[in-house]
Amino acid sequence: MDIYRVAAFRDNYIFVLHNVDRGEAIVVDPGDAEPVLHTLDELGATLTAILNTHHHSDHVGGNRQLLERFPQAQVYGGAEDRGRIPGQTHFLQEGDRVPIGDGQGPAGGQRTAEVIFVPGHTRAHVAYYIAPATANDWGELFCGDTLFAGGCGRLFEGSPQQMVESLDKLRQLPDQTRVWCAHEYTLNNLRFAVTVDGTNATLQQRLKQVQAARAQDQPTVPTELGLEKQTNPFLRWDEASLQQAMNSTSTVQTFARLRGKKDLF
Ligand code: ZN
Ligand code: FE
Repeated sequence: MDIYRVAAFRDNYIFVLHNVDRGEAIVVDPGDAEPVLHTLDELGATLTAILNTHHHSDHVGGNRQLLERFPQAQVYGGAEDRGRIPGQTHFLQEGDRVPIGDGQGPAGGQRTAEVIFVPGHTRAHVAYYIAPATANDWGELFCGDTLFAGGCGRLFEGSPQQMVESLDKLRQLPDQTRVWCAHEYTLNNLRFAVTVDGTNATLQQRLKQVQAARAQDQPTVPTELGLEKQTNPFLRWDEASLQQAMNSTSTVQTFARLRGKKDLF
């Protein structure tokens, strides 16, 4: 399975999962159909499924047009997004498994993406996690607008408590997980991160690398979960230094104050 990153709008990423053997593809969060159709045509692939993380238009705006071209494609999204995702056919809950049409699972069977319920950015948001095919391989996480490289999504429909619980679920995945988040927000996120976690040498080094990459217009997605755990303040709400910086004594309060500061940054 090959994963393609397709740029859309100003800073969105759409992901196309291509099964070369079958000539089939799955798309994650097609906010815009045109660049997806272009990629599918180049690959000569048939679209079999749309995986939506949440209902915002920059993630589902291309569903209808893709379904016109590929009416058989299944449309997956969170159960609580019923009525908000165009063409939705599957209403997912925590722990559900979505077939990804690849006969290379750990037990030799069909590989699946596991559904992780991550409310906070919206009340229905889900993430999709594909476990590694072999022990030394990488896992793949499609987390929409929940976890970003160096940051996290704004709280539109959820509470800080919910978002901490959601991010904690993602934080428990293996370090060797590629994080395919839906926006190129990394540079701004890290500029904020150094204002609250300024003594973190790994973070400072990462900021320099991302500044250099963005100066050459290179993408910073996917990122690696192990690096996020070390440098993303929104996965580090229980670090003593961050709690101190936020003048807080609880993890949720630390997160809430970080998120509040970031909203004004
Ligand atoms: Zn969103
Ligand atoms: Fe978005």
